[in-house]
Amino acid sequence: MTPRRDGPTPPTARRSPSAVTPPVDGLRFPSTSGGDRRHTADGVRAGTADSDATADSDATADSDAAADSDATADSDAAGDDDGRSARARTDRMTVRPLRDRRYVVETDGGTYVVALVAGTCTCPDHAIRGSRCKHLRRVAMEVTEGTIPGPDERVGVCAVCGAETFVPFDAPGPQLCARHGFESGDLVRDRETDTPLVVVAVTAERADAYRTETGRPIAAYATNAAYGDHEPVVEAVYVDSLRPGSDVVDAKRYGFPASRLVRADDAGRETSDAVEENR
Ligand SMILES: [Zn+2]
Ligand SMILES: [Zn+2]
Repeated sequence: MTPRRDGPTPPTARRSPSAVTPPVDGLRFPSTSGGDRRHTADGVRAGTADSDATADSDATADSDAAADSDATADSDAAGDDDGRSARARTDRMTVRPLRDRRYVVETDGGTYVVALVAGTCTCPDHAIRGSRCKHLRRVAMEVTEGTIPGPDERVGVCAVCGAETFVPFDAPGPQLCARHGFESGDLVRDRETDTPLVVVAVTAERADAYRTETGRPIAAYATNAAYGDHEPVVEAVYVDSLRPGSDVVDAKRYGFPASRLVRADDAGRETSDAVEENR
């Protein structure tokens, strides 16, 4: 039962039709009590075989996720899938990201560690048979669906709204969610003056650390009092300061706490949000 680390079986080896039938069926999941279901569930997928709660959450994901992940993951292994994709979707599993880019997968039959990039899992199915096991597949599915961060991501908290968001693994400083973040080149509006600007960069510095050329933190300015000191500073240039033929990066930049700027194309949505909140 000690997981071997002989390295993955070459993918081409799995093409062999003779590999379809597991030589010793009982080896698959030694501790399982649901062996029957594993077999009957093959190909049944959304049928009555799944009476547990996972069926609900998978129901919507199934139709599109099945096509996507199977197309990439299983196209070379259709012959020996052997129901793993179906089980990856429907079996009860809890996936949690570790801090080292791996994932812990808890199942009824045991707890395993998956390394998605390396394509390894500590379960017997992978260790003994070198399979792309259901745990690996489940982690890949959840990453694709956005329910867990990818191997190069971690969970961050938006400095504006507090929502959890997936950010690059090494991202320093305060973070912003998709709704409150900016891309270089975004057209934005300053809430204080209603002036249009173009975003140049989202810095990794907080508003109480980022200093203007006079040496004063931008959080110390009265016009920034309504915005969080802990927010990342966004650098932007005034649209008025741009001249034909000149580059945005050459214009004079100003720093703003992130929530002081709002994307121009969000202005309408924000108004309707405010109406919602005031009801
Ligand atoms: Zn596994
Ligand atoms: Zn946010």
